[in-house]
Amino acid sequence: YETEPQSIWWNGAITDWGRARVHVASETALRGLNVFEGIRAYWRPDEQRWAVIELAAHLQRLTESARLMNIPVDSGLVERMAGGIVALLAGSAVRGADLYLRPTVYVNAGRYSGSADETEAGEFVACHSADPTTAESIRCIVSSWRRIPDEAMPTRAKTGAAYTAFRNARIEAIQADADEAILLSTRGVVAETPGAAVFAVIEGQLTTPPLSDGLLAGITRAAVMRIAERELGGPVVERSLTADDLAGADEVFLAGTLDEIKVVNCIDGRRIPDCSVGEKFRGLYLAMCRGIAEPLHDEFEVMMP
Ligand code: PMP
Repeated sequence: YETEPQSIWWNGAITDWGRARVHVASETALRGLNVFEGIRAYWRPDEQRWAVIELAAHLQRLTESARLMNIPVDSGLVERMAGGIVALLAGSAVRGADLYLRPTVYVNAGRYSGSADETEAGEFVACHSADPTTAESIRCIVSSWRRIPDEAMPTRAKTGAAYTAFRNARIEAIQADADEAILLSTRGVVAETPGAAVFAVIEGQLTTPPLSDGLLAGITRAAVMRIAERELGGPVVERSLTADDLAGADEVFLAGTLDEIKVVNCIDGRRIPDCSVGEKFRGLYLAMCRGIAEPLHDEFEVMMP
C-alpha cells in the first residue's frame, strides 16, 4: 500500500495506526495464527457514502475461519467487526475513494496449543484506499507449488499461515514475468490463485472447479455463479479442470474481491484467445458494486455511514 493509514480500529476503538502492536513472539507474528477477510467498499458519488459489498458473507466466513483454526471468538464478533467498519468509515479521511477493509482476528498471547481459555485473541479492522482494477488482462503461470490441501489445513479458513505458502507461488509468477500464479491441488487439478477463483470457457461452456477441489469458498465466485444464472440464462458448470483444460480454453478469468473480475490473456506463455465472456461478467459485477445495476441479492450491499 502506498500510504500508511492514520488510524485503525483495534480491540474496540479507533487507535493511531502506529500504536496497534503485537509482541514479536506472539503466535500471530511467529506462525501466522490469524484469520482475516478482505472486503471492498465502493464510493457512491451520488450518495456521498460507501457501499460495502457482501459484508454479511465476509463476516460469516471470518467466524467460520476462526472456528476452523481454533481461535476462540465469541458470538459478538460479527457485530463488533461491523461496528469497527462503521467507526472507521465515519472517521475516514479518504472520503471519495474506494476502500479495502481487512477485519482480522489474531492470537496475541497464550500457548501454542493452549485451550480457548488460555488463548488471547485480538481484533482489528485495517482500512486502505483501493484503486479500481483496470480492464487490462493479465498473464498467468501454472505454479510449480500446489495449493495446501484440505487434508493439511482447512481450505475454507482464510488464515495468514496459508498465505506464506501462496506468497512463494506469487513470487514464482513475478520471476517468470507474469502477473499471477494459478495453483493446482495436490491431486493435480486446478485449485485457485492466491487471491481469486478461476473460471474458464471451454467449448462454449462456462466452468469453474468445485469447492471439493480444495479452494476457498470465494464470495465473488458465488456472485459470478449467481450472475450467470440470473442474467445470462445458464448455470456455471462446476467440474475439475486440468492445466491442459486451461491451456486449451477459449477464455479464462479470475474472480475475487480485490481482483474483481480479471481476464487472463496467457498462461505459461500460451495465448488465451477470447475475453468477451469475462468482460461481460466484469461489466455486470462492477455495475452492481457501483450501484448502476440492481444489487445481486438483498444483502449484497450495506450503505454506510
Ligand atoms: N482464493 C483465495 C486464496 C483468496 O485469498 C481469495 C480472496 N479472499 C479468493 C480466493 C477470492 O475470495 P473472495 O471472492 O471471497 O474475495
